[in-house]
Amino acid sequence: MTAKDAYDKLRTHMKEYWLLASTAELLEWDQETYMPKGGADNRADQMGLLARLTHEMFTDPNVGEWIATCEASDLVKDPESKEAANIRELRRMYDRRTRLPKEFVEESAKLTSKAQHIWADARKASDFKLFEPWLVKILDMNRKKADYYGYETEVYDALMDDYEPGAKAAEVEKVFSGLRKELVELNKRIANAPRRPDISILKRPYDVKKQRIFAELVVNAIGFDFRDGRLDETVHPFCTSIGPGDTRILTRYYPEDLGEGLTGAMHEAGHGLYELGADPKELGMPCGFADSLGMHESQSRMWENQVGRSRATWVYFFPQAQRIFRESLEGVSLEQFYHAMNYSAPSYIRVEADEATYNLHIMLRFELERAMLRGDVQVADVPGEWNKRFKDYLGIEVDKDSNGCLQDIHWSMGAMGYFPTYTLGNLYAAQFYAKVREEISDLDKHFEKGDFTPLLKWLRENIHIHGARWRAADLCKRVTGKPLSHRPLIDYMNNKYAEIYGI
Ligand code: ZN
Repeated sequence: MTAKDAYDKLRTHMKEYWLLASTAELLEWDQETYMPKGGADNRADQMGLLARLTHEMFTDPNVGEWIATCEASDLVKDPESKEAANIRELRRMYDRRTRLPKEFVEESAKLTSKAQHIWADARKASDFKLFEPWLVKILDMNRKKADYYGYETEVYDALMDDYEPGAKAAEVEKVFSGLRKELVELNKRIANAPRRPDISILKRPYDVKKQRIFAELVVNAIGFDFRDGRLDETVHPFCTSIGPGDTRILTRYYPEDLGEGLTGAMHEAGHGLYELGADPKELGMPCGFADSLGMHESQSRMWENQVGRSRATWVYFFPQAQRIFRESLEGVSLEQFYHAMNYSAPSYIRVEADEATYNLHIMLRFELERAMLRGDVQVADVPGEWNKRFKDYLGIEVDKDSNGCLQDIHWSMGAMGYFPTYTLGNLYAAQFYAKVREEISDLDKHFEKGDFTPLLKWLRENIHIHGARWRAADLCKRVTGKPLSHRPLIDYMNNKYAEIYGI
């Protein structure tokens, strides 16, 4: 078989794989939104069958042979070409899926399913001792998994590669350490600031029906076209792509909080716009989708934070918000509202953390995971280590484990190496945004008029269309001319909070 034939076969096969996999996505979306409770058992069977079929399709030995034929040909001669990138990433994915023995996968599934129940009980009772032996088992499982995958320097790299292809823990740590130091200082300045925004502005009664209308208006204005997607509600907001021209985003509204539902919708719209900007000609191939969670998160965070919490954006949206929420926003000025959107204070729970404190929650988890996997921190010492770092970084004492090391579901699911992608996303977002502002100097003027197209166009051309053609770190260098650094994020935050808090 010629390399061209092998490549064509791969294309057809991967497209069909993708059609089947996206069918499972649609079923999952339905399960999280409109499925009647009575359908749960049948849905679990449907999902189980689809999971088996998609796994079999991806790990089909033919796929391995087609990849090998392409690798031995001129198709990959230019490593920057789309063909070479597709083969590179298919090889990575194929190896990872075929290297884990079936028994190991089954045992891991059993272990994590049990561990999740135990974790839920432990969190409820706020008793780490209940979860401790299970965390030991999960660490062992992850070390074994890393051995199957293979790695050069440390276990963490092998695990993180599932979420952030090509990233190395030592490199991540370098960028994080600069960020951590300056963020701790910024948060201290905020804590001692001479003035604070009035957060109560956002914590008044906000009719959920009106919130729905307002969120639709906002995401539509930033470029999320309802001919190509839907905005619905769910318990844990997410975004899922069903295919070209069909992306579903979900948020959650609270009757006494305007910020949560709205910023959730903008965040998910950012993910959705990324998905909608994928190259339809590469459907099913790596260049047609994004497999770096950090890159994905950069798109959601930019719309949520750099855009969604900026004064320029609210110059346009605030008068509309005032018309819709007449009573709650009566007498509130644009300035007060903009400040309230940027309220910051340390808190225990990561998912409730604000822009200035969030990354400290993440870095603490990254450090602990890495230390546990290396054996530098024993599992029994996790609560103590957690609380000590929390005090150092955020300045408050953790009162109980449910507010500390037991708060996240990730470890009980076996997911280690996932957390850093959140902060990588914030870092990429800031670095890209600084570059956009350099290239489009009057961006704020556009925002003030409700014109978000210059930013969206830039993101489509520079990021969205490429899918996984370049690894996140390489794409960052290509687009901004520099390797990832903590500087743009910390500069953006220092400037913003200095002005709002008078620090
Ligand atoms: Zn996200």
